[in-house]
Amino acid sequence: MSSQQPLRALSREHITRAEIIGQLQAHGLKPTEQRIRIAELLMSVPTHMTAEQILAAVRRGGERVSKATVYNTLKVLAQRGLVRQIHLDPERSVYDSTRTPHHHFHDLETGELRDIDPNDIAFSRFPTLPEGMEAEVEVVIRLRKKRGGGA
Ligand SMILES: [Zn+2]
Repeated sequence: MSSQQPLRALSREHITRAEIIGQLQAHGLKPTEQRIRIAELLMSVPTHMTAEQILAAVRRGGERVSKATVYNTLKVLAQRGLVRQIHLDPERSVYDSTRTPHHHFHDLETGELRDIDPNDIAFSRFPTLPEGMEAEVEVVIRLRKKRGGGA
């Protein structure tokens, strides 16, 4: 069904509410209002958001929603492969609407994540994988301002 997406996926175009409902259903999820709302926030344009940012955005829309509901919904969306969960540290996950494997710059000062095209990183050496295993590599390159460079 979902064939290999081209790298253009990194700048995928806006998707509609109807398409989001279709995607939820295609991944075996009942399209409840809250799931649609959260999926819309994340998936309508390529983005990276933390659970806190999503919670704040839902509440800004005037909806009364608990933190637990948002967190559980995000967990389900990630488990079903609708969004990617990126673990930056044990306390903080970022949800990424770009589903194809890719890498990130992580700005340590702003917390911002920026996509890196998978073709822009290559490995000249790679360990032999344990028998029967396959690897999925996602690189996070942490960025901080150069010291002594002035502002
Ligand atoms: Zn990304």
